[in-house]
Amino acid sequence: MASGPVAASRSKTRGVVLNLIRAAHTVSRVELAANSGLTPPTITQVVRELMEHGLVVEVGRGTSTGGKPPTLLQLNAQARYSVGILFERNICVVIVADLAGHLVARTSFHGTELLPPDQALPLVASRVEALLEAVGVERDKVLGAGLVSYGPQDRQAGVLLTHQPTAEWLGYPIAPKLSELLDLPVLLDNDAAAAAIGEYWLGAVEQNSTYGCIYMASGIGGAVVSEGQTYRGSSSNSVEIGHISIDLAGAECGCGNRGCLENYAGPGAVIRQAFATGDLARRLGLDPLGNDYLADFALIAAAAVAGDPAAHELIEHSARHLAIGAVTMATLFDLDLIVLAGPSFATAGPIYQTLIEHEVQQRTFARRAHPVRVVQSVSGSDAAAIGGAVLVLKSGLATLDLPQPD
Ligand SMILES: [Zn+2]
Repeated sequence: MASGPVAASRSKTRGVVLNLIRAAHTVSRVELAANSGLTPPTITQVVRELMEHGLVVEVGRGTSTGGKPPTLLQLNAQARYSVGILFERNICVVIVADLAGHLVARTSFHGTELLPPDQALPLVASRVEALLEAVGVERDKVLGAGLVSYGPQDRQAGVLLTHQPTAEWLGYPIAPKLSELLDLPVLLDNDAAAAAIGEYWLGAVEQNSTYGCIYMASGIGGAVVSEGQTYRGSSSNSVEIGHISIDLAGAECGCGNRGCLENYAGPGAVIRQAFATGDLARRLGLDPLGNDYLADFALIAAAAVAGDPAAHELIEHSARHLAIGAVTMATLFDLDLIVLAGPSFATAGPIYQTLIEHEVQQRTFARRAHPVRVVQSVSGSDAAAIGGAVLVLKSGLATLDLPQPD
């Protein structure tokens, strides 16, 4: 196989062309040349290579602009796949996406939080293998897996820098170990960043938008994307809005800060408040041991949506606090859109959306310069897992490595 700078440049060019075809859905060679800045002969050659490898197909003819109608090209979505894995304190979600980022298969399971890493990861790997087998995806068509989780993390090394769920996970090389088990490349990334990138890649956000994502699962995270570029900070541990302090005298948080937003707005806080609110916890059958934040929080959210006044008050209390994070994020980054993503918005999302949008529109610094909208993610609960698969596709397409002709 060819190697070195020439091959790297060829693979990058293929990636650029393939990504343009993906984004356009159907496109002609002439349009590709115009949109990429590449010459028509280069486009012809790259498209030929992509077609020979089955990644692109011709799908009929477009509208004539005088001469012969142009042949339209489309991605062959079934040519490659990627896996997205959300590794959460209370749940693990595995999805398979095709080359276009469409969901092909999904599974989820509980229990990894109770296991040490050397037992949890083989379980995750076996679920991935089973899902690929169930949908009949051949292994040589899988580009890799995007493992997404909370922070802080060392994204480059694929290591979690947190003692959650237990102390054994701190410093554990989660991505390299899973890669070894799956015999696939595994990327580690932040769940909120993955959700935000997925939203953009799937076309749910305008290309020139500067938008934020508030991601809520068992904790609260955030991400900011401007014109398709994620703000990464120094170490990809940025925009952690769950851990901005809103109370100088507040309790110490697991992150080391005091009075963190997550401890007022997050599912754990809402559950604690439910146990302190009359007989609400008993009525809803919440687990007194408090092991599964997501399940107990979902019960409170469902009761709030059904009109239970005590549950509604708790969700509103959470939303009002989360709005502080949303306004802060919009003011710091001059956002025009905030996307709410993650499993903890699945049930009571509309309550959060309405209240947060109202607050953001009243209080964001740049509100007279442009509107700031708040929407729910198009990928809902699975936004981070889908984002994980998208990260792999994005990275695979950026440097698409194909066998070279002799
Ligand atoms: Zn904190």
